[in-house]
Amino acid sequence: MAFELPDLPYAHDALADLGMSRETMEYHHDLHHKAYVDNGNKLIAGTEWEGKSLEDVVRGTYQKGAVAQNGIFNNASQHWNHCQFWEMMGPGKSAMPSELEARISDAFGSVEKFKEEFSAAGAGQFGSGWCWLVVDTDGALKVTKTENGVNPLCFGQTALLGCDVWEHSYYIDFRNKRPAYLSNFLDHLVNWENVAARLSHA
Ligand code: FE
Repeated sequence: MAFELPDLPYAHDALADLGMSRETMEYHHDLHHKAYVDNGNKLIAGTEWEGKSLEDVVRGTYQKGAVAQNGIFNNASQHWNHCQFWEMMGPGKSAMPSELEARISDAFGSVEKFKEEFSAAGAGQFGSGWCWLVVDTDGALKVTKTENGVNPLCFGQTALLGCDVWEHSYYIDFRNKRPAYLSNFLDHLVNWENVAARLSHA
């Protein structure tokens, strides 16, 4: 089945008061994410990946040598990443469910320590990429960062939370202040109930 651009799970201006403007959403979802979907579909047509699930395409094309496969990976992984990213945010200012809070505190010392580590990973990703909270293959919660479209699927990890640190995600609202974008993301934009649901399915 061809990739499809999902609707945002909220209105384009739903996060505007929380630091992610309608203009950012219009560029980011309607143009950038759509381009990954359209380009991915063009590149996959007629290849062995046509009809495969998005997850299988991402895992199967990761680090394949051929340039054509790299193009498929880049677009498929960014399609997957953005599908998760929209769901991981919300306008509801959700509180962190207690079980998730306990797991995060166990793994990182405290929620504040987790936020520091997550923000440092995002700020320290040189160039475009993502920072993540994952369940690693050993079952432990870890903070990671990845370049470009690379994501936790590539390493057999479960993504609980991911933040897009490509400039297109923050330049309209935060200009060059990536650390301010990251702390706003953690303090105001994350849908912690979505993160907790991912943990319970991990
Ligand atoms: Fe993006």
